[in-house]
Amino acid sequence: MNNLAVREAIERLRESWGDRLLILGHHYQDSEVVAYCDAVGDSLELSRLAAASKAERIIFCGVRFMAETADILIRDEKGLPCGRSVWQPAPDAGCPMADMADGESLEAAWQYLATLCDDRPLTPIVYVNSNAEVKAVCGKHGGSACTSGNGLRVVKHFLSLGHRILFAPDQHLCTNIMRELGYPPEAVATWHRKLPNGGLSKEQVQAARLIAWDGCCPIHASYTVDDVATARATYPGAELLSPPEAPAAVASLADQTGSTKGIIETIARAEPNQTFIVGTEEHLVRRLANRKEPKVVSLRPIICEDMGLTTLEQILNVLQNWDEACCVKVKDELVLDARACVERMLAL
Ligand code: SF4
Repeated sequence: MNNLAVREAIERLRESWGDRLLILGHHYQDSEVVAYCDAVGDSLELSRLAAASKAERIIFCGVRFMAETADILIRDEKGLPCGRSVWQPAPDAGCPMADMADGESLEAAWQYLATLCDDRPLTPIVYVNSNAEVKAVCGKHGGSACTSGNGLRVVKHFLSLGHRILFAPDQHLCTNIMRELGYPPEAVATWHRKLPNGGLSKEQVQAARLIAWDGCCPIHASYTVDDVATARATYPGAELLSPPEAPAAVASLADQTGSTKGIIETIARAEPNQTFIVGTEEHLVRRLANRKEPKVVSLRPIICEDMGLTTLEQILNVLQNWDEACCVKVKDELVLDARACVERMLAL
């Protein structure tokens, strides 16, 4: 089937489903895919749209944890399926960072650290870019999810209650949040997941206010101080926008750190003669750069391969076959705890 035939077939099937179908796409999806999405946004925004819609079938163009979050939020009050379902056109699209933490390891870390924290309560916080089982462990222990946009508010809330935080899986996001909150580097201890007991002693744990899981997004973590120096020399006067998932050495050089949504809004509000260097996934940077004004350039072009796995052919395949391999179903026993973790964040 040629590209035009694929597009026409998608359109025909979308029309036949009408309001019973919702196609969602993450900002990092290819523009060709985005063109067929009813809404484009960040993972949480899209999951909330999925939950608020009445659509029977939701096709989520993104990676696994995003489709899982949508499934968690559309279940009934008992956490059971309610006749609505979430479909992922590229079922192999995962997230390398989310896979750096699993439920069993987080539970073990929690148990070990909780016994050492006899001086203050320990609360888990997980980045929404995490697998359902990780969210469920967090929810079970009274913790909350966070996004790159609201992470500062969530962390600040639990610190203000006097709690110590176990943050997973993105070490850079929480380190940058602590820096922005004015904490010195010693306030963060790193949990090395491959070392016994995370490589942390009771003294090290009690000296810290936040224990950072040693995961990271390989895309954002790969930006360097040299990238910043090169871009600043090439585009003098440009503003550097960086997400807080970049290493602290890079994020601290940015003119502004913020979520994907924050970056998009900053550029939308800018004067036409401004120039922005953007340090995030290339599919999004390209789309932002397609507009003539303001000028947008990449800090260094990096593609998230998992985000790039979704194709129009796969969307058509879901619409034609509804193959069970593409249906995302979080284990029933995880749903209520995982949802509690997400809902705690929404309530803050
Ligand atoms: S960009 Fe990073 S956080 Fe997002 S899906 Fe890719 S690896 Fe995961």
